[in-house]
Amino acid sequence: MDTIRDRHFYQYVHRQIPVFILLSLLPGLGYLLLGWINNIFMPAFVWYLLVVASSIWGYRLYRSFDFDSMSEKRRDRWYRQCSWFFYAFFGLWTLIFLLYAGSEENKLHYIAIFTEIGASVVASSLLAADRRLYRPTIFILMVPLIIYFALIGEWYGYVLTAFACTLTWVLLYSANSSYKLLMQANHQATHDALTGLHNRQFFIEHLQKRMNSLSESGEFSFLLLIDLDHFKTVNDSLGHDIGDRLLQSVVARLRQHVPAGTLVARLGGDEFIITGSNIASREACERASLDVSETLLAQLKETYIVEQHHLYISASIGVSIISSRSSNANSFIKEADIAMYEVKAKGRDGVFMFNEEMSERVERNLVIERLLHFALPGNEITLHFQPQLNRDEKVIGAEALVRWNNPRLGSVSPAQFIPIAEQTGLIIELGNHILETAFITLREWRDKGIRLEQLSINISMRQLTHFSFTAQVEELLNRHLDGELRQKLVFEITESIVAEDIKRVISVMNRLKALGIRFSMDDFGTGYSSLSYLNRLPLYEIKIDRDFVGALDQNDEDRALVVTILNMANILKLSIVAEGVETAAQRDFLLSHDCHIFQGYLFSQALPPAEFEAYYTGRS
Ligand code: C2E
Ligand code: CA
Ligand code: CA
Repeated sequence: MDTIRDRHFYQYVHRQIPVFILLSLLPGLGYLLLGWINNIFMPAFVWYLLVVASSIWGYRLYRSFDFDSMSEKRRDRWYRQCSWFFYAFFGLWTLIFLLYAGSEENKLHYIAIFTEIGASVVASSLLAADRRLYRPTIFILMVPLIIYFALIGEWYGYVLTAFACTLTWVLLYSANSSYKLLMQANHQATHDALTGLHNRQFFIEHLQKRMNSLSESGEFSFLLLIDLDHFKTVNDSLGHDIGDRLLQSVVARLRQHVPAGTLVARLGGDEFIITGSNIASREACERASLDVSETLLAQLKETYIVEQHHLYISASIGVSIISSRSSNANSFIKEADIAMYEVKAKGRDGVFMFNEEMSERVERNLVIERLLHFALPGNEITLHFQPQLNRDEKVIGAEALVRWNNPRLGSVSPAQFIPIAEQTGLIIELGNHILETAFITLREWRDKGIRLEQLSINISMRQLTHFSFTAQVEELLNRHLDGELRQKLVFEITESIVAEDIKRVISVMNRLKALGIRFSMDDFGTGYSSLSYLNRLPLYEIKIDRDFVGALDQNDEDRALVVTILNMANILKLSIVAEGVETAAQRDFLLSHDCHIFQGYLFSQALPPAEFEAYYTGRS
């Protein structure tokens, strides 16, 4: 390509038009005067009329330009007309040169020569953005001058010819240099330095253009947003150099495996975005997008070798179908983003296509986020307690589970609002409130004669790793619980801690342990449990995830897994809670394999404190 026709280019060309108009209308008057003085008024007058006509033409071109509302085709046509305008402009200056150069009277030829050189300098500097403009114009201007000097026939004429040739070369050379610099600056402004891919800004402009062409043709295209899974871990553990090299290898694979006609860009970090070519029907487009996604997912998962490290990485892909239904490029990127987050939430390494349901969920989450801020001051947050029973079906403990009842939303599941509270940071305040309420309840129960061996409280990772967590817990303990009751507390954490700074987590856990608190590994078996780190954490208990318990009736493999977990916990001397026990068959199976504590709808759901008290009294 000879030029990069982006917004800046067009705006640059557009800006030059009035400059050229002024550069011809004003000096042109001087030429008119000279023509009058030197008795060549008529030709000069005709010439000036032509200048005025071409200025009007230029002015109309100037007025008719509006980058955003013009289609690519119209922009193309506009630019072609501009080029002709510039040629005409310099052609007119060559014409006046030819007219005045022959006249020795009043040394008019000096002025003509200067005019021609001046115009050439103007052409080489102002038209440097496009080779196809400055090359011919410099020739149009300089060649007549060279011939003029040569025709003098005297020795100084030949010297001037040589000078004029040199000047032509210098002008071309300097225009070329500016052109290369412009191209380079443009490349830097539109590309990502690390991977050489187009950057976000370029992509959005490209997408906007694509959308215009799609709305004309009624066709469809797709947009893939690709985010690498756990890329941060590579960066953190192996360093940014290795991370960068991995990104480059990922990009090489992306480039290799996308179909022809697709554009790959880097949105930033480990996020990439791809648009496909135009496809006639929505169905075919959806199919094509999924095909491409599946191919990419498979290819990206192959081993990478970076400086002797064997690396594995998967990706999450969100798809949005581009059509004429929206005129805003960002809205499609946002859709793909929503779909991509959905993949992340469902365990990564996959592809989802955006649908309306997703956007409703996002809307709802925004509402939740807004209303959650008023939940604590509005007293909408309460705690329910789910009984935990021993092998003799005596209530020996409880898990505190938060409940949110909002006048507008009704009762909202913690599975829905806890992740939002974590994202927004509200979990710190909310978590403290939950701790305090649970502590107070525990003390009140003892006063009422309800003696539990343990009270479990869910602690989210963001809470645990917050700098003030241990201090807060200690303060609340001092305020509400004596040494005896502190021994009853169990904090439930999840396996997501592997993604965190494990040393820090262990140090926090040990400080809390010193205050008398025990720890339970919640949802055991669903995350990245590895025996090595299970051993490093100061754990007291594990909770077998309710999905495994639920599958006991149906699935041999899960049954084997549960037995393995139970054996392992017994060897490591960890207490075991089975959660989500819903049937007598599940209970019996767990009983026969040495499970210690049971929790689930078979016995009771989570209850408000008063109902829990009644349940306790009935079962003890
Ligand atoms: P979790 O910690 O795994 O809690 C167990 C969930 O399983 C609870 O749902 C409980 O009501 C439900 N459950 C109990 N028995 C059965 C059963 O037999 N069958 C089935 N299908 N489900 C059963 P809930 O209360 O909706 O809590 C959902 C999640 O929200 C919890 O999962 C926990 O991750 C989070 N959560 C709840 N309360 C808190 C809290 O106070 N703090 C934090 N950080 N997270 C909380
Ligand atoms: Ca739990
Ligand atoms: Ca659980």
